[in-house]
Amino acid sequence: MEAALFNGDADAVALSRPFIADPKFPRKIAGGATALSRCIQCNLCLFYAPVAPLKCYHGKRMPAAG
Ligand code: SF4
Repeated sequence: MEAALFNGDADAVALSRPFIADPKFPRKIAGGATALSRCIQCNLCLFYAPVAPLKCYHGKRMPAAG
């Protein structure tokens, strides 16, 4: 992300799903961690956002419909 900004390849970097998957991710990056986010971009969090709490649903029981 830093390189993309520094090299002019991007004007901004926005993260959302990685923070949903791991709320401690920003602190880990700031601490020097280089591991990738555990978000797999399945978009289940966005799919359920209108009807269920905003959280990572990958590998978890899905909220009941209705
Ligand atoms: S539900 Fe999927 S897209 Fe959303 S944070 Fe979890 S792994 Fe990422």
